[in-house]
Amino acid sequence: MTDNRQDTKRLSLTKPLDEMAIREISSNVRGQVIRQQDDGYDEARTVFYGGFDRHPVAIVRVTDSTDVSRVVAIAREMGLELAVKSGGHSLAAHSTTDGGIVLDLSEMKNLKIDVSGRTAWAETGLTAGEYTAATGAHGLATGFGDTGSVGIGGITLGGGVGYLVRKYGLTIDDVLAAEIVTADGELLRVDAERYPDLLWAIRGGGGNFGVVSRFRYRLHEVDTIVGGMLVLPARPEVIASFVAEAEAAPEELSTIANVMVAPPMPFLPEEVHGHLVVMAMLVYAGEIEAGERAVAPFRALATPIVDELKPMPYPEIYPPEEGDYHPVGSARTMFLDAIDLPVAETIADHLRASSAQMAVAQIRVLGGAMARVPAGATAFAHRSSRIMVNVAALYERPDEAPVHEPWLTAFAAALRQGEGGAYVGFLGEEGEDRIREAYPGSTWERLADIKGRYDPTNLFRLNQNVRPGAQPKSDAVT
Ligand SMILES: Cc1cc2nc3c(=O)[nH]c(=O)nc-3n(C[C@H](O)[C@H](O)[C@H](O)COP(=O)(O)OP(=O)(O)OC[C@H]3O[C@@H](n4cnc5c(N)ncnc54)[C@H](O)[C@@H]3O)c2cc1C
Repeated sequence: MTDNRQDTKRLSLTKPLDEMAIREISSNVRGQVIRQQDDGYDEARTVFYGGFDRHPVAIVRVTDSTDVSRVVAIAREMGLELAVKSGGHSLAAHSTTDGGIVLDLSEMKNLKIDVSGRTAWAETGLTAGEYTAATGAHGLATGFGDTGSVGIGGITLGGGVGYLVRKYGLTIDDVLAAEIVTADGELLRVDAERYPDLLWAIRGGGGNFGVVSRFRYRLHEVDTIVGGMLVLPARPEVIASFVAEAEAAPEELSTIANVMVAPPMPFLPEEVHGHLVVMAMLVYAGEIEAGERAVAPFRALATPIVDELKPMPYPEIYPPEEGDYHPVGSARTMFLDAIDLPVAETIADHLRASSAQMAVAQIRVLGGAMARVPAGATAFAHRSSRIMVNVAALYERPDEAPVHEPWLTAFAAALRQGEGGAYVGFLGEEGEDRIREAYPGSTWERLADIKGRYDPTNLFRLNQNVRPGAQPKSDAVT
């Protein structure tokens, strides 16, 4: 989540080729084209994470798939780097570029909900929170992650691990179809019959294959849930027992537990500030009484510091967020088999030793519906992984990275079990070996093969990149 690139200075002069590209784009797309000299440029080039100061030649706020096709074609023909931005939350800042074009989907928010058919076509400028609020009005939901401002584009393409993961699986397990503009500028309707190879690849393979203008999702009946925040003191035995309870819980219950040194936040009593806490979010998607029974063992682990668990409409799980929050930091993602007492002690010890403004170990117990999908059915191969852990350090300035990176590396190494692995959605700029850990075994070869067919020149390379394998064009049925 910090910038590894050397050349981040402002590009003060627009080169003639760039001017040509801007003219070409401006006369061919309907959406707004924001150039370096335009008002709003600095806001438009901002991504969620701070510490990235990149200067695209232009940001193009596309309005529809025709605009998307044109921008893709112009970027390809003029050899411009192309960044694709949905919600802008990439940990590696892949949705911005120095000297290239940002294809910004944020104006594309069309959502067509088929209430009786339990499906929705959603444009990828929508955020998880916007989608969930709109479908929630019908008592329906598709599972995304823990943060409402994350774009449905990025989270879906990576897999999508959230509050409904044990009950309904990953976000990609609800993807029925998609419309995608490939590197040649063509708009393809992708589903199980047409382009099944692409449908497989975009369910976990990230933005490697083209620009998804919209997804068709399955919706589930998720109305009132039992859930919210529970904060407990993070003694190692509480951490380990929390994980054990989360594993033993019915599949209706998914949990995300942030173990961290309590920040001075107003909702936390002053006496816990600076002490380790488990700040957990729980969601039980089922009957209210059964939900109350399911969350009871978590409340009983220790005297809760904050207990906001209650029946509530599902969309309320995404509270309003501060628009100008741009944290700077670094993170590591991994899968673990178990968090027993010694592992919990390791977590607590490392968190206490960090000098970062905020250090956190985020624990997500998996299983349930997610684990019943065969590992080879989508490009997300970690179906049998039991626990996902992300460790992160947030700090004030990017130049603090050399202090916190070694801490993170040591923390991740101390936790590593077996193959390790990585969730592509939580990878930063960590190199090809780590991308291969996200796509183990035959998943990598299959992705490279499909990439070779649909993006042989690697136009879509600002992502956790799978380089194209040498292959002839698709054998897909159209
Ligand atoms: C605060 C925070 C919380 C998070 N919580 C979760 C969570 O609970 N669960 C989880 O699974 N993940 C989570 N993530 C990870 C998140 O899913 C990824 O960072 C994701 O890529 C962000 O999507 P975005 O659209 O907001 O980001 P962007 O930066 O806009 O996109 C990221 C990349 O995805 C690709 N991309 C995006 N949209 C498209 C598109 N329409 N077509 C083609 N390529 C596209 C591009 O390569 C782009 O660079 C979280 C991230 C953050 C920062």
